[in-house]
Amino acid sequence: MLKKFFGIERHVKEVKVFWTKENFLKESLKVERMKLHQKKIVPVIIWDFGGQDIFYSTHQTFLTYRAIYLIVLNGSRTLDDPCPLEQYLPGKSGHKTARDYLKFWINTIVTYCKGSGAGFPKIIIVLTHKDKVKAVDVELKRQQLFLDIEKMFSGSTLLSHLVIKDQIFVNAKNARDPEMAKIKKIITEQAFQQPTWGQELPRCFIPLEVEFDSLVSRNIPLITMEHMRKINSLQPVRPLTEDEMKVFLTFQHSIGRILYFEESKLDTYIILAPTHLIDAFKSIVTDRRFCAGDRLRQESWDLMSTKGVIGKKSIEDIWKEKKYKKFQDHKEYLLGVMTHLDILVEPKRYDRAHSRITSDFYYVASMVRTSDTTDYLRSSTFGQRNIGIALCPSSSLIPPALSFRFIGYCLSMFALKSYGQKNEEMLFHRSAVFNIDPCLDMLVNCDDEIIIIRLVHAENRTLIIRDLPSSIIECLAVALEKISQLYVKTSSKGDHASTGSFRHAFCCSSSDNPCLLQITQFQELDNSWICPKHRIEHTKDMLSSWIVEKEDIKCGLACPVTDEEFLEQIPADIHLLRLSMQYTVNETKELANHLGMQYSTWERLYMTFSEEPERLNFETLRKCLDVYNITFNDIRKAAESASIQNPHTICKVVREKLIDFDHEPEKWDMEPTEEHFDRLAPLVGNNSLAFLVELGMEFQTWEQIRFKQSERDLVKLNRDILQEWKTFCNINIIRPSLRHIGQAFNNIGKNIKIVEHLLADFF
Ligand code: GDP
Ligand code: MG
Repeated sequence: MLKKFFGIERHVKEVKVFWTKENFLKESLKVERMKLHQKKIVPVIIWDFGGQDIFYSTHQTFLTYRAIYLIVLNGSRTLDDPCPLEQYLPGKSGHKTARDYLKFWINTIVTYCKGSGAGFPKIIIVLTHKDKVKAVDVELKRQQLFLDIEKMFSGSTLLSHLVIKDQIFVNAKNARDPEMAKIKKIITEQAFQQPTWGQELPRCFIPLEVEFDSLVSRNIPLITMEHMRKINSLQPVRPLTEDEMKVFLTFQHSIGRILYFEESKLDTYIILAPTHLIDAFKSIVTDRRFCAGDRLRQESWDLMSTKGVIGKKSIEDIWKEKKYKKFQDHKEYLLGVMTHLDILVEPKRYDRAHSRITSDFYYVASMVRTSDTTDYLRSSTFGQRNIGIALCPSSSLIPPALSFRFIGYCLSMFALKSYGQKNEEMLFHRSAVFNIDPCLDMLVNCDDEIIIIRLVHAENRTLIIRDLPSSIIECLAVALEKISQLYVKTSSKGDHASTGSFRHAFCCSSSDNPCLLQITQFQELDNSWICPKHRIEHTKDMLSSWIVEKEDIKCGLACPVTDEEFLEQIPADIHLLRLSMQYTVNETKELANHLGMQYSTWERLYMTFSEEPERLNFETLRKCLDVYNITFNDIRKAAESASIQNPHTICKVVREKLIDFDHEPEKWDMEPTEEHFDRLAPLVGNNSLAFLVELGMEFQTWEQIRFKQSERDLVKLNRDILQEWKTFCNINIIRPSLRHIGQAFNNIGKNIKIVEHLLADFF
C-alpha cells in the first residue's frame, strides 16, 4: 500500500522475511501453550478442476499421487441421461453421459497418479442435487446410482480406487446438509490411509512453507530463485544447502503446493500459487464460453480452434487487459513454462541461410478442433505409398493430454506439411502431417487406444530409405515414454527407469480401420504379411525397416583379426573409443588385467569414472596403451585368454566403409546449417554416443552434454551433439562439412542415403 501511495515502481530491492527467529520462537511458544502440536493439525490444499475438455491438456500438471480425489455428479439424473453441455470426450462421439465422464476421469486420475500403492489414489464419489429429488425418492435414488457405479467397475482394478461405501448424496447449496460433514469425515479418514501419511519430513521445511503461505497471502504468486535463497538464508531453524533446497522445491512441487521446473531458464522462478499459472493458461487456452463479450479473445480462440495457432502479439494484447496484467511481469517465464509443457510450441522456421529464426506465433495443438478434410488420406495410391507402425498403451486409453503433448512434441521437432487447395498446414485434432524430406511425410494420428505413425512416400513405399523409419521411431518412442512418465515419476518410488508403457505393433497400409501385426507374429512370418481386413501385402523386408537390425558383420577368412599385418598396428584413440562401447565395464576390467594392468590402477580409475562406464572403459584401455604400447594383437590375445566375447569384436571397430563422396563433392563440402542439424537429429535415433564418437569428440563431451539435459529427449540430445561438434570444429580448426556427418552416419551403421536424401532439397 505504501508503494501505491508513493507511486513506487514494482521493483523489489530488499526482501524482508516475515518469519524471523524471534517471531518463530514466539509463535512456537504460542503453539506450545495452546497445545496445538498435540492437536495435530494437517493443512489441506484443495484444488477445484474444471471439467471442460479444453483443460484436459493442463490438468495433469496438477494431478498428484499424494492427493485424494472427489468426483461430483448430479444425482438427480441417471448415469445414462445425456449431459446438457456438449463437449469433446475421447472415445465417444455424439451424446455424452455421466457414465462416460466418470469412466474418463477415473481412468485419467489413475493413469497419471500410479505408483503410490495398489488402490491409490482414492477417488471419492459424491452425488449432488439432492434437493432436486423428491424426499421419498432420495434413498432409492442413492442406492440405485451407487449400485450402478459399482457395477460399472466391477471386475476392474479401478473399483479398488473408489470410495463409495458411504453413498454420499448432498444438496451442495446447503452448507448445513449433514452429509457435508460426512464428506469431511471421509476425507480425514482417507488421509490417514494414504501411503504417505505419517511420512517424516525435515523440520527445516516448516519455516519455508510458512513463509510461502505468507507470501501468497500477500498476493505474491511467484518469486525468483534469488528471493528463495534470501528467504532460505534467513530462515530460523537452519538454512538448507543448495542441494537440499532443490529437494525441498521438488518435493513441494510433487505435492502440488508450488510449481518448480528444474529446467534451465525455468529454474530461476518458483510459482508459489499454482493457480497463477492456471490463470495464465486459461487466459489463452480456454473454453469459448469463457471468452464471451471479449472480442479479442474470441478472435484468437477461433483462430486457434481452426488453425491451431496463436500470434505472439495476440497473447501480448490479451495480457495487456486489466484482468491479465499480472502476467506481463513474468511474461517470458510463463510462456517458457507453457512451452516446456508443450502447451505452446515454437514453430520451426529458418531464414534463407537455413539458420533458425523465431516466428511470430505459437502452435497450440490442444485447441485445434478441425479434422482433416483434405484428400490426403483418400488418395488412391495412399496404401501403396506408406508404411505404418502403432504404439499401443498398456493401460486402456490414451489421455487426450498425452496426445496433445505428443503432437506438440512432434511440432517442436518437425516442420508441418502444407497441402491441399489452400496449401494449409496439416495440423488437426489429434493428428498432424510433417515433412521429413522432400519426398517423405510423417503422419501422426492419436486415437484413444492407439497412436499410429506412418511414413508416406511421394511415389512408393518401397523407396523409403532403410534405417530412417527405425531411427525416427526410436526417437518418438522415447519421447512418448517421457511424456507419459512426466508426472508419474514424482511418485514415492522415485522410479526413473522407463517401464515401457507402450507396445509396438506393425500397422497395415490402409488408413481405414487398419490391421495390426504384433511383433511376435512378425517374427514368425515367412516372407510377407497379408493383412486380414484389406488383403494388402506387406513384405517382411519392408516391415523390418521399423526395427533396428544390428548388422551381423560376417567375419570370415579374410577379416582384420586374422590379418597379421593389421594385428601389429597400435590402435588409435578412435578404435579405443569404439571398443569402449563394445565391452562392458567388467569385460574391460578383465581385459586390462590380462594386458597387465594392476587391479589397484583399475580401481583408481573406477573411483574417478564410475559414473561414466564408457569413459571408464576408455581411460582403462588408454592407460594400457600408454604403459604397455599394446597392439591389436595384444588385445586379441587378452580377449581370448579372458574369454571375452569373441575376437571379432575387434573387427567391428576397424571396419569403416569409406564413402564415395566424389560424385557430388560440392554438396558434401557444404557447411551444415541449423536446419540441417534440426533435420538430422531425429535420424540419429538411439545412437547418440556412438555418433558423438564418430564425429571425433570424446566421452567427456558426452557427459557435459548429457549433464545439461535433465530429461531424456533423443532428438534434443542429438541436436546438442551436432551443435557441440560445430564448436569442436572451430576450436580444432576443422572446417565442418556434411562430409563429416555423412561419414559419422555411415560409421554408426546407418544408411548414408538418409543424409543424402534429406539434404536433396537444399541444392
Ligand atoms: P461445476 O461446474 O462442476 O464446478 O459446478 P458448480 O459448482 O459451478 O455448479 C453448477 C450449478 O449447479 C450452479 O448453478 C450450482 O448452484 C448448482 N448446484 C450445484 N450443486 C447443487 C445442488 O446440490 N443442488 C442444486 N439445486 N443446485 C446445485
Ligand atoms: Mg466448479
